[in-house]
Amino acid sequence: MTFESLGLRPDILRAIAEQGYTTPTPIQAQAIPIVLQGRDIMAGAQTGTGKTAGFTLPLLHRIAANASHSTSPAKHPVRALILTPTRELAAQVEESVKAYGKYLPVKICVIYGGVNMNPQIEALRAGIDIVVATPGRLLDHVQQRSISLNQVEFLVLDEADRMLDMGFLPDLKRIMDLLPKQRQTLLFSATFSEEIKRLSDSLLKDPVLIEVARRNTSAENVTQVAHLVDQAHKRDLLAHLVKTQDLQQVLVFTRTKHGADRLAHQLERDGIRSDAIHGDKAQSQRTKALADFKEGVIRVLVATDVAARGIDIDQLPHVFNFEMPNSPEDYIHRIGRTGRAGASGDAISLVSPEELRLLVEIEKLIKREIPKVAVEGFTPGTSAKEEPRRERPERERSDRSRDHSARRPERPELPPAAERQAQRGPNQGMPKPAANNHHLKQPMNHAISHGKKPNRPVAALLGGLNKKGD
Ligand code: AMP
Repeated sequence: MTFESLGLRPDILRAIAEQGYTTPTPIQAQAIPIVLQGRDIMAGAQTGTGKTAGFTLPLLHRIAANASHSTSPAKHPVRALILTPTRELAAQVEESVKAYGKYLPVKICVIYGGVNMNPQIEALRAGIDIVVATPGRLLDHVQQRSISLNQVEFLVLDEADRMLDMGFLPDLKRIMDLLPKQRQTLLFSATFSEEIKRLSDSLLKDPVLIEVARRNTSAENVTQVAHLVDQAHKRDLLAHLVKTQDLQQVLVFTRTKHGADRLAHQLERDGIRSDAIHGDKAQSQRTKALADFKEGVIRVLVATDVAARGIDIDQLPHVFNFEMPNSPEDYIHRIGRTGRAGASGDAISLVSPEELRLLVEIEKLIKREIPKVAVEGFTPGTSAKEEPRRERPERERSDRSRDHSARRPERPELPPAAERQAQRGPNQGMPKPAANNHHLKQPMNHAISHGKKPNRPVAALLGGLNKKGD
């Protein structure tokens, strides 16, 4: 199968060739012909499957068929609307649409919150054919009358399940009310919950269902490992592994925004260039951190689950779970960011005794045991004498004593709807205090000595995933 055989226009094929793609991915092979026929689709596909090109290429083909070469804004009403849950994803999708559409007379822009509205208003005024947007900012433009959606012919909902998770359903409903009934709608979602089915029933007309294998299902190239370590020693272990194994591009997940900031600062003090990305950061900071990480200016990017959604970094080699996620599905999302497209990757979890129950839940979901590997000097209960660590600087100790949030349990970063809910009451949305699970301590499966890279491929890592439960 080739892109030529899918019937795409030569000016799109040229742009695809420039991207270096030779063969359509399974989602592209299935979705492109159906979208070209004008049918609605409901597609089960995650980031990493090539879904963006799967909807962008046929969309561009259809738009280009009667695109106007005129520069008059009136000749460029918004004809396609692509909605994404996060700013990062919106920016990435826009980049892709621009790359695939570079030889077409099609105008594209991205609109998301956290940045000044004026440049977006100016771009819209000049006439735009394809808008990539997050729902909240799009509605701001609707309110300001800087955008009109009554000529939209194509609607794409990218990562629809994430949009619902993040509480965007009311916004989506308001947006749908503004769109013409006669249009083509493409819905992409990694999961198919009842909510998604209800949404698709209300939006799609006689859709074709497409499902492709979860990414990594066939990737046998992600090494998973868990290091059991006390919470208080995790940062030192992380710095130790980054340094001794000379890891250069490391995505680290924490559960809280504050924890992400603190860890990035501490790693910087350890001499490891780091930055944090989370929902409280200004968009410009998030964009810069991501760009620095991609370019190798920083070695470690610390992220919360919410902020990391949709981040697509080709061949990301190392993902660390600094804290285990509360939901086992989030573990799969996290480690799915490595080992893509044939590249090998490491997914390394730093697991405190209190988090063992979370590890057990994850192992149940992936139907695999994750090898537990001891790192000398960092096993739980290591006494101060054995610790291979330096004294903490005085400054850090006094910082901590002033830092109240360091002493109370922190709240994981929540999607906007859950955040609002959590703000209503002092305890809503708070994690339950971790149980004292020391008795759960499991024997180590393996031991490695200081500094040796745990290189233990877990064959067909997620091959046994239960699709229904995903
Ligand atoms: P996506 O799932 O859309 O986020 O795409 C994941 C990655 O796959 C992106 O980095 C794309 O550039 C890349 N990609 C998309 N389609 C192809 C293809 N046909 N061949 C090779 N790489 C692709």
